[in-house]
Amino acid sequence: MDWVNFREIRTRISIADVLARYYRIENLKQVGQTLVGPCPVHNGNSARAFHVDLDKNLWHCFTGCKKGGNQLDLVAAKDQVSVREAALRLKKFFLDDDPAPAAAVVGVPPSPPPPAAAHAVPEKGSKREKPANPPLDLALQLLPDHPHIVQDRRLSLETAQHFGIGYCARGILAGCIGIPIHDEAGQLVAYAGRRLKFSDAEDMGKYRFPKGFHKDRVLYNLHRALPEAEGEYGLVLVEGFFTVMHLYELGVRAAVATMGSDLSEHQAVLAAKSRHVTVLFDGDPAGQMGAARALERLEPLTNVHLVLLPQGLKPEDCTPEMLRWQLAGVVSQRLTSLAAQTAPLLAPSTAPPTFD
Ligand SMILES: [Zn+2]
Repeated sequence: MDWVNFREIRTRISIADVLARYYRIENLKQVGQTLVGPCPVHNGNSARAFHVDLDKNLWHCFTGCKKGGNQLDLVAAKDQVSVREAALRLKKFFLDDDPAPAAAVVGVPPSPPPPAAAHAVPEKGSKREKPANPPLDLALQLLPDHPHIVQDRRLSLETAQHFGIGYCARGILAGCIGIPIHDEAGQLVAYAGRRLKFSDAEDMGKYRFPKGFHKDRVLYNLHRALPEAEGEYGLVLVEGFFTVMHLYELGVRAAVATMGSDLSEHQAVLAAKSRHVTVLFDGDPAGQMGAARALERLEPLTNVHLVLLPQGLKPEDCTPEMLRWQLAGVVSQRLTSLAAQTAPLLAPSTAPPTFD
């Protein structure tokens, strides 16, 4: 059994560290030496439920869970583990690899904590002076040959390695598939995590993005895709990370993802670095609405075509032939976007169940 000194952990790791660095909670307001906000333990939305005494390193929830205690109790309650396990988690996260205070360690956020963690700083002033997503100076160790990747999603090891994805065993993305995200210059700016535990994915969403990460300022895979976008389909705009990876396996290397079904204005400007953009969103209502909006944003900026997939189909469900035919069909028929919107190229069909 691992030996663990509770007192040392409570002395060396403040409750502010636990909230800001371990959980990256940034919706708490500081009033004097008290933090107040929604309770992260029961995930309530009452803005005054959760109180933290920064001097005493104590917390209390006044509404939903009505729990309270010190740093260890917080982790125990939030992660639903024993106090001992909570102590081990904090020790592992903050102390094990950090003998010297300023050492930047693989898999652990570097100190000082990132700006996103500055929950106590008022929300005004110099927000846009720094880049929206500053480069990360850490790298997670990810295991590419995880069953979720090679069995569930049937991606090859080569593809996993090409995109740098893999299972993350420790740190903030522990238990997730980590996906490195780069800006248009190819600098690593964040890791997204695909939650694997079904209940977590249900409760919190399938994807986890770092707090403070501006997803709307990045197009996933643009730094790799743009040099390939001179081909006949131009830059192919899709919704999700894994669609980009599947298209790569289907021979479409110029794919980028919005990381959701909305293309932001900034993302539209990024996509318009290509002279031709093909919008290929999922064949579901959210995807089709998103595609129509993306079209509106892109049309003033570049040449744009829209491929509408049959209901229930995602790009990765297509065979290579079908995909090529769909992409090429839209382009060669010179359909206007409106025509493409009103005349889907394929009749609806039933689609196999998929992950996203
Ligand atoms: Zn609570």
